[in-house]
Amino acid sequence: MTTPDTRDPVSRRRTFAIISHPDAGKTTLTEKLLLFGGAIQLAGAVKAKRNAQQTRSDWMSIERERGISVVTSVMTFEYGGCVFNLLDTPGHEDFSEDTYRTLSAVDAAVMVIDAAKGIEARTRKLFEVCRLRDIPIVTFVNKLDREGRDPFELLDEIEKTLALDTTPVTWPIGSGKNFAGTYRFATKTIRKIDKDDELTQTRGLDDPILDTLLPQGAADAWRDEAMLAAEGSKPFDLSAFREGHLTPVFFGSALRNFGVRDLIDAMAEYAPSPRAQAADKRAVEAGEPKMTGFVFKIQANMDPNHRDRIAFMRVCSGKLTRGMKAKLIRTGKNIPLNAPQFFFARDRSIADEAYAGDVVGLPNHGQLRIGDTLTEGEDLVFRGVPSFAPEILRRILISDAMKAKKLREALQQLAEEGVVQVFTPHDGSGSIVGVVGALQLDVLATRLDAEYGLTTRYEQPRFTVCRWVTSDDPVKLKSFLDSHGSSIADDLDGAPVFMSPSAFQLNYDAERNPDIKFSDVKDYQ
Ligand code: GDP
Repeated sequence: MTTPDTRDPVSRRRTFAIISHPDAGKTTLTEKLLLFGGAIQLAGAVKAKRNAQQTRSDWMSIERERGISVVTSVMTFEYGGCVFNLLDTPGHEDFSEDTYRTLSAVDAAVMVIDAAKGIEARTRKLFEVCRLRDIPIVTFVNKLDREGRDPFELLDEIEKTLALDTTPVTWPIGSGKNFAGTYRFATKTIRKIDKDDELTQTRGLDDPILDTLLPQGAADAWRDEAMLAAEGSKPFDLSAFREGHLTPVFFGSALRNFGVRDLIDAMAEYAPSPRAQAADKRAVEAGEPKMTGFVFKIQANMDPNHRDRIAFMRVCSGKLTRGMKAKLIRTGKNIPLNAPQFFFARDRSIADEAYAGDVVGLPNHGQLRIGDTLTEGEDLVFRGVPSFAPEILRRILISDAMKAKKLREALQQLAEEGVVQVFTPHDGSGSIVGVVGALQLDVLATRLDAEYGLTTRYEQPRFTVCRWVTSDDPVKLKSFLDSHGSSIADDLDGAPVFMSPSAFQLNYDAERNPDIKFSDVKDYQ
C-alpha cells in the first residue's frame, strides 16, 4: 500500500459518501468504518439513526433530534495515514435531492450492494448522479454471510446495467453458511471470516489451504471459478478508476465486520485526494493557497425562537481557520467565520482548521444558502450543486389571510434550506411549492406549523410539471415569458420557470418554441 504523504494535509484527505439501496447495509458499514477510525462515539449515533430510519413518524422524530443528524452529516476519522470525511446521505428516497447535493461535495463513493439483490433501483439512480461528475466508485458486495447470487452474475450486472467495468480485487471463498473469507488475487493472500485482521499468504489458487476452507470436494470447482474471475476480468487500472470507468470490487459482510478493512485500505490507496472543483471562471485546484468553498447542505435549528442554521460547506482549496473572513459571492459581503464547527472526531478533540476536502459547519442566521460560494480570494462561483425540477407541485394555502406575509417569509427560509422549492406565479396567485418526494410535503407542513405557527393545506394546481426556461436570446425569452404569463413563476432566485398541466403539453410547447431551452436541472446561482 502506498503511504500518503502525511505532511501534506490535502493529499491525506479522502472525502466520500456511501451509495446504496435501503437495507443493503450502508448504516452497518458506516459503523464499522468508524470503528476502524476510532470514532466510536459517533458509531452510536449512527445506530440511533438506523433504528429510526424506516417510517414517517420515526423520520420526524429524527428530525426533532437534529443534534444527531448534524453530527452524522459528516463523520471525520483517521485511518492508515489518511483523514476520511464520510458524508452521510438520507436513507429515505423522498429526500434524494439532499443526497444529490451531498454527492456534489465528495471525491469518491463506496457503492454497497446486497449480494442477494444486486443492483437495485436507488443504487442505479445514485450511481447515475455520480457518473455525471465522474466520481470514482469502489464496490462492496455485502452480506456474503447469507446465501447470495453468483458473484459472476453480480459483476455482469454491474457491467451491464451501469456500463461500468469491474475488477474483482478479492474473491469470496464459499458463501452463506460456508462463507470462509476472501482470496486476494494480486497478493495471493487469504483473509478468513473470523480473523479479519490476519492475512494468510498462499502460494496461489492451488494452495491446499483452500481445501480446508471450502466444503469437502468443493475446492476444485472454486479454483476453476476463481481462475476464470482472475483471467476474465480487466486488470485494475487506477486511471480508469479515477475517471469513473472502472470499479474495484470487494466482497464481505459489514455485519460480521469482514472485508471492511480491505475496503478502507482501498479508499486510502486508490481514492483520489480532493479534486479540482469546477467554478464559473476556471477550475479551482485543492492545493491553491486561498480558501474557497461551497455550501451544499443547510441544517436548521428546531428551536422556533432562534432561526439559527448550520450551513455545511465543503472546503475546496486553502485553509479555513476560526475567525477568518470570507466573501459571500452572492451578496458581495465579507462574513466572519467566527464559530465554524469542525467535525474532527479523534479523541473528541476540536480541530480549528480545515483543508480542501473537509466539511465545516457554519452557524448563521440565514445569510447562507445552498449553493453559496465563499472565498478568501478572487470572485468565482462554484458550479454543480444541482436543483432538480420537482415531481410534485402543490399550491400552498393558509386560512388566515393575515398571515400571508409570514407564510411567504417562512417558505423563503425553508426553500433556502432546501426543504422545498418555492415558485411565485407571475399572475399573482398564491405560492406553489415543489418537491421530489411526497414526504417532503409532510415535513414542510409540520415545520410550518411547529416553527412558524402556520396552519396550511395543499391544493393541486392545474400544473403538474415545470421546467426552468432560458434562452440565448433575451428578447425571445422576454416575449415567451410575456405571452405565457399565467404559466410562468419565479423560483427562489428569480429565475423563470414554465409550468405545464402535463408532460405532453410541455413537449408540445417546447417544440413550438425552439429558441427557448426547457431544463429539468438547474445549477444553484
Ligand atoms: P441501510 O438501510 O443500507 O443503512 O442498511 P442497514 O445497515 O440498516 O442494514 C439493513 C439490514 O441488513 C440490517 O438488519 C442489518 O443488520 C443487515 N445487514 C447489514 N449488513 C449485513 C451483513 O453483512 N450480513 C447480514 N446477514 N446482514 C447484514
